[in-house]
Formats: sequence, structure tokens, C-alpha cells
Amino acid sequence: MKISQRFHQFECQVIEINEHDDNSIFEMTHRVVQEALGIFSNIEKFQKFIEQNSQLKTIFEMSLTNIDDKKKEKNLLIATNALQRNKIPAEMKSLMDQHVELMRSITKNVKHREFLDEFMRKEMEIVITNTFGLTSPNGNEFGAGIFPLSSFFNHSCSPNVMRITVENKLVFIVSRPIEENEQLFVCYRNDFMETSTESRKAELRTKYNFDCVCEACIENFPLLIDIKSTSLNKISPEKTSTQQFTEQIAKAEFKTNCEFINKNSKNFPNYEVCNLIKRNQSLLEYLANISSSFSW
Ligand SMILES: [Zn+2]
Ligand SMILES: [Zn+2]
Repeated sequence: MKISQRFHQFECQVIEINEHDDNSIFEMTHRVVQEALGIFSNIEKFQKFIEQNSQLKTIFEMSLTNIDDKKKEKNLLIATNALQRNKIPAEMKSLMDQHVELMRSITKNVKHREFLDEFMRKEMEIVITNTFGLTSPNGNEFGAGIFPLSSFFNHSCSPNVMRITVENKLVFIVSRPIEENEQLFVCYRNDFMETSTESRKAELRTKYNFDCVCEACIENFPLLIDIKSTSLNKISPEKTSTQQFTEQIAKAEFKTNCEFINKNSKNFPNYEVCNLIKRNQSLLEYLANISSSFSW
């Protein structure tokens, strides 16, 4: 079974494969709104549904298993609408108005026009904060998408979950041991290994409108280059390049790395574990994109 079938069971994403610019936010919003409209037979029903389902607070309130496609689509619409929003920058306002006008013009009914106007503006504020970039194994961004369930993850500069792109889907995998009831975090932008606390905090404030209080920011974790090797293990920094890999070699290394991370993640961050987490990310990206069976 392909990894995308095995792990990607619930989320139907809206994907924008074109270049990522100001316009793509609006194009993507149109697609979100059109997909939403497509679930219902008329605007009246759509409006009623939105008005009755604005209460979702966490993903756990949503039933995700054993549901039909229609129910799934509706759940994802509810989830999308519960996501964080951010104001559209002033310089994009006139473009925003044009797109809103375009959407309103699908009906002459004044009530429906008002509803679509408001809905469209809200979705833009959601899309602008919740777009995930999709990257190919060589690291190039080839597109972006809205993945409402994935957006429920909170951010940490020292995440315990890593994200990889498989085809045009997102796959999340735990990167180091987690305690029972510990929260799962992904990293929205740059993590502590490569980027200083100051620049991370500034970027998160501008792009996502929050002050990061993750453990890396609170404790001011050092950059990876400033962490001394504790000689826990002899890791040769230059491992086999993934070009020379076979599936088997990559899987075996991933497994060994996980065992090491499990044993040595107590005094995090430490040099070896950090390096192996990064290494595992590349291994997973490699495996997920060549492997027909992604199971161990
Ligand atoms: Zn899907
Ligand atoms: Zn942080």
C-alpha cells in the first residue's frame, strides 16, 4: 500500500500548484469557497450550515472515522472555519475587494451576497495564515495547500513531530519520544537548530501574529553549530548521500537512528540526537517518495 493511502485517510486538501504570490492566496480562497459551495445544493443550505456549525474548538470534537464522503467534506469545512485568522495586509485590500466582488456576483439575492462577502473575507484571513508549502525531495517548493486538520497542530521551534510531503499530501511523523499526554508540535517556519531565538520570534510575530513560548524560546536553546558533541555516539557527519541509497539501507539506518534517539533524548537538545532527527527527516523524505510499501 502506498504511504499516501495508508496515512492520508481523512483530509482532502485544496492545492495550488502555481507560483506562490499574493494572488495565489486569493485563487486558493476561491477554491476553498467553491469546494464548500459544492457540498450543498444551494446557497441557502450552505449559509444555514455555516451558521449552525461555528462552534468547533478542537479537532477531538470531530468524528473522523467511518464516515461517508459527504460527512467528511462537511467536517473539513467546519475545521477550516475554526482555524486561526490573520488580517489581510493593507496593500492587498483592493485586490481582496475585487475577489470578493467576483464571488458575490454569483447571486442576485441580497442576503446571500452579504453572506458570501463575509464568508469570502473570512476564508482569505484563514488561507493567509494556514497555507502549507509542499516540497519535493530536493527541497524545492512546488506548491501549497490548505490542510485544515494539519493546521490544528500548534507550533514549537523544537517540534516533536516532523512533516514531510508525499506527492501532494502532508505526512506527520513523531521525531522523538513523547510522554503520555504531552502535546504534539510541528514547526511552522525555522527551528532552533538553524535559526536564533530572536529571529524566530520576530518571524512568528510578523507571519503568524503570536509570541512564541516554546521550550526552545523560553530556554533559549543554542544553535546546532554551538552545541558541543557529547560523544554519545560516533556519528560521522557525512553519511552516505541518499542518491546511493537503497530502500533497505535507508530503512535500516532509520531504525538504528530511532533506537539511538529513544535512548538519548533525555538531555535535549544534544548534538547527536539533533543531528539524527535531521537525518531521519531526509531518510523519510527519501523513503516516502521511492517506497511502494512504507511499513515496518
Ligand atoms: Zn484527500
Ligand atoms: Zn519558539
